Amino acid sequence: MINKKIAILTGDVHHKLSNNYWDKNEFECMKEEIEIIKKEKIKATFFITGKLLNEKQKEFLQLKEIKDIEFGGHTYSAFQPNLLRLFFKFILNSEYGPRFWQKNDIQKTKTEFERSGLKMNCWRTHSYKSNNNTLDLLFKQNVKIISDKHSIGIFDLTKNKFGILDLCITMPKDEVIEPNLEKNIEWINNYIKLLNESVKKKEMIVMALHPNRMKMLDNFETFKKIIKLLKKNNYQFFKVSDILNLRDIP
Ligand SMILES: [Zn+2]
Repeated sequence: MINKKIAILTGDVHHKLSNNYWDKNEFECMKEEIEIIKKEKIKATFFITGKLLNEKQKEFLQLKEIKDIEFGGHTYSAFQPNLLRLFFKFILNSEYGPRFWQKNDIQKTKTEFERSGLKMNCWRTHSYKSNNNTLDLLFKQNVKIISDKHSIGIFDLTKNKFGILDLCITMPKDEVIEPNLEKNIEWINNYIKLLNESVKKKEMIVMALHPNRMKMLDNFETFKKIIKLLKKNNYQFFKVSDILNLRDIP
């Protein structure tokens, strides 16, 4: 098992999912977060939807020049329309839909990456809802790492039976954050507490933080606090695909 002071910062970014302020400004929140990342001289990986890449192609052509930022796939349409997602869930117990559907969605996402001159080395499925079909199809599209699993405080990097590395998220997710700071205090305290525990044990840390939730939480204040805490403890920041360069990967 790898035991190094490495922190991997990831965040999912979607195209406009609804007319709600936070749902339609994810890209702007990511750009704001990237400025912080550049200032702090750290690294990060953003999992983006193919549709976002299609809509913002010109801007991604500039963003891809930032060497400390990496982009990975996050489905093409984030399971939209919602009615179809519910139908697939009801009929197949798979929100990502049948194999042919996933195949088309992954291909469309990869095509957007190629059009922008980006490599799709890593992937996180929207809502973490991958299944064996997803893993097999991603492997065939040359994706090396997937990060859908979640286990607090337990770093795990294993090669699944389809040949893709499974990178486990080790910190709490942030979907519970609401646009109301009072309600989020508990989340912040718990996050910092768990982060301190992992740091003390010198564990590898994998974070999944949405840029729009970090903006919503407290205008990136907690986000900056997390970075400072890790830097103070001599953690090194890795992009997701940097782990392919570690000598002791499975
Ligand atoms: Zn998502």
